[in-house]
Amino acid sequence: MEANAGTDLQPFSSRYHSEQDCMEALIEMKWPNGFVCPRCAHTRCSRLTSRHIPLFECGKCKHQTSALVGTIFEGTKVPLLKWFEALDLFLLPGGISAMRLSKVIQVTYKTAWLMLHKIRHAALEFDARELLCGDVKVNSDQYGRNPSRCQLSHPYASAVVAGCTVTESGEPEQVKIRLVPHKRGNEKRANRHDLTAFINGHVDVRTSVVQLFPQAFRLYMPLRRVVREAWESLKSTYGALGLKHLQAYLNEYTGRRRLRLQGELPGAEETMRQKLLCMCVAIPAIPYRRLIARQPNQPLAAAA
Ligand SMILES: [Zn+2]
Repeated sequence: MEANAGTDLQPFSSRYHSEQDCMEALIEMKWPNGFVCPRCAHTRCSRLTSRHIPLFECGKCKHQTSALVGTIFEGTKVPLLKWFEALDLFLLPGGISAMRLSKVIQVTYKTAWLMLHKIRHAALEFDARELLCGDVKVNSDQYGRNPSRCQLSHPYASAVVAGCTVTESGEPEQVKIRLVPHKRGNEKRANRHDLTAFINGHVDVRTSVVQLFPQAFRLYMPLRRVVREAWESLKSTYGALGLKHLQAYLNEYTGRRRLRLQGELPGAEETMRQKLLCMCVAIPAIPYRRLIARQPNQPLAAAA
């Protein structure tokens, strides 16, 4: 690939031009109503600016902390400007592969891979906290299989349970797609038990009216389309994905889709970026060991 590959990627213009700009944005996001000591909840502090990363010392217990503690940026050696650029690129309609990111922001492939997984993990944890509620549709669907070419088997086809809330016009709004990893291959489908498990884990049943679509020939079509679009999008950005990290990529897809739906209004791009940044500040980074220890259900087809 030529050296300037990726320069055609122009995300929305950034208002952060220096490390300091980024740091101030993180401080603002971390303590929107002013400093709160993480140890004793005291609100007065002194700011020690002699360090590369500004430290805040609690006026009562003298505990020292920074705005990066407990965020995905904690302990990073990558400049924040590169992180912010990565967040912008993550929000592109198809996302960005680690290979591409490493070239655009000029870090190693491994660093780019880790950065993307940390962002993905934050989006996942955030998504897990938000249950579906209201008018909820739930499909027993398949991921990775083209129903119009039924005769071709696809090795990565997997049963999924997909659920969504819908807008007044019936379009999926918040979407969750969960793999049923022990049911791989063509014709494998989630059963009633899998659907119930999905509802218990991801739907606020007290405030929802849930409609189930357990049969392949009678799915909720707008939601089925989202599952197909997820497959097409992940395939084109990442190539073939094995099951080890597939759930994380699916969450990335649905999370980005939702952020982008909210960002479609004029002037809402900044809101979209702020929401992603908020997730990254609210969620501690996943430790590398935990990330690579995810149990593969199937060998990785290709690095993404
Ligand atoms: Zn304190």
